Amino acid sequence: HIDVYAIPVFRRDARIGTLFVHRDITREYELDLMKSELVSTVSHELRTPLSSVLGFTELLLARTMKPEKQLKYLETIHKEAKRLTELINDFLDLQRMESGKQQYTTESANLSEIVLGVLDQYKLGSHNVLLVDEAFNSEVEVDRDKIIQVLTNLLSNAIKFSPDSNEVNVHLHNEEDRIVVRIQDHGLGIPKDQIGHLFQKFRRVDNSASKRIGGTGLGLAICKEIIDKQKGEIGIESVEGKGTTVWFSLPNLYSEHKQYEEDGGRWNPDKEV
Ligand code: ADP
Repeated sequence: HIDVYAIPVFRRDARIGTLFVHRDITREYELDLMKSELVSTVSHELRTPLSSVLGFTELLLARTMKPEKQLKYLETIHKEAKRLTELINDFLDLQRMESGKQQYTTESANLSEIVLGVLDQYKLGSHNVLLVDEAFNSEVEVDRDKIIQVLTNLLSNAIKFSPDSNEVNVHLHNEEDRIVVRIQDHGLGIPKDQIGHLFQKFRRVDNSASKRIGGTGLGLAICKEIIDKQKGEIGIESVEGKGTTVWFSLPNLYSEHKQYEEDGGRWNPDKEV
């Protein structure tokens, strides 16, 4: 998309020509498009739970009904209001991250320790979340809280989308100069043609099970944003009906590979890895 300005050029009050300025406005055009798409998606996502809250409160106000029915309506209102709050929080979080306003405070940390700390919270839950740690070295340079946020999002998805299986495995291993975390469930899985889109905002698997389970469709977009910012990679492998593995990798701070390069391509047996 090109914007063209015509500027008349004068010399001693006489017009001697026209200067044409061509400006590439593709970026602005794309940004405008993205903004309007976003506004319509957000307003749709907000409107759905809000109209349900309004509808049910109106019903409660208009008629007297059995206490059990009242309770059921109130539960729905509460669920929808919670969903709205989650949606707004997730959305603002992502917005802050994408605009670059979110500060990252990185420190060197042991990823195994971070994972173990997060898994501790699932100890008493409905699912058996196991750590299979095959990493001999998992030093990373990360923003600890953000990585905890990624792990929590991925684990809660693994649990949420495994209604009939109660086992979730978390694998940690070294792969060249990276450390890879894989979160594996044996749940619903994802149809092949939809896997590729799920890191985009508001994308959810389009089927009845996914709709029933619910969510904001922002969790994976947030995870990708965080992992991208920390020089990592993230991906999904899934077989519908069998289960899903979401993995992310981060640069290993003291990888053998890195040491080898630092030693000028020579193996240094005295150096601690
Ligand atoms: P949310 O879970 O809030 O809907 P996410 O962005 O975290 O949003 O996930 C997007 C969609 O990806 C989910 O709605 C679900 O359809 C699918 N999904 C994510 N993780 C899994 C998983 N472990 N198993 C099956 N489907 C998943």
